[in-house]
Order: sequence, then C-alpha cells, then structure tokens
Amino acid sequence: MITHDFGVIAELCERVGVMYCGMMVELADVETLFEKPMHPYTQGLLGSIPIGSNERLVTIPGSVPKPINPPPGCRFHHRCEKAMEICKKQPPIIEIDKNHSVACYLYE
Ligand code: SF4
Repeated sequence: MITHDFGVIAELCERVGVMYCGMMVELADVETLFEKPMHPYTQGLLGSIPIGSNERLVTIPGSVPKPINPPPGCRFHHRCEKAMEICKKQPPIIEIDKNHSVACYLYE
C-alpha cells in the first residue's frame, strides 16, 4: 500500500518503507518508525502531523526534486539541515535488515 496518511499506516501496517524522490530512505516496523524515526526526512514528515491545536507544525523547506533528474549524492541534501559534504557527492546506501534500516550518513 502506498499512502501519505500516517493514520492509515498506524492502523493497517506492520512494516513501513519511507520513500523520498523514488528512493527508499528508511525501513522499520511501524512502532519503531513512529517512536524513533532516524532519517531527517522521516523526522520532518512525522513532525508535520498536527497533534494539538496550539502546536506549531514542522515544515521541510524546499521541494522534492524531479526523480528523472535527481541531484547527485543524497537526494534529500538540498533540504536537509544536517547535510555534510559527502551528502552532496555520494548517495548513501540503505542496508536492509529485519530491524531498522536507514540511508543516511549520520549513522555511519
Ligand atoms: S545523508 Fe546527509 S543529506 Fe541525506 S539525510 Fe542524511 S544527513 Fe541529510
């Protein structure tokens, strides 16, 4: 199932893959992903969910690049507050395992 609705994900899914610009950036069981998101994009997505009426929502600056002409390196680096030099040059690799996987240089 493909959706942007985290409520639907929480109700129906056991395992979640987060996609950004055509790439999987994070993969985990639904509880782990909601409690400890690792990728800055996932953190931004979850921060944008309204919880209380007075709470200020988090936004991710910029917009998604076109997948047909993605930027070099990490496809999220133009929008990432934690981007480093390597992020602009070399795409991070996600190593899929049965627990929590993330494609991000912050965890290497
Ligand atoms: S690899 Fe770099 S640019 Fe990409 S999400 Fe991680 S820190 Fe940000």
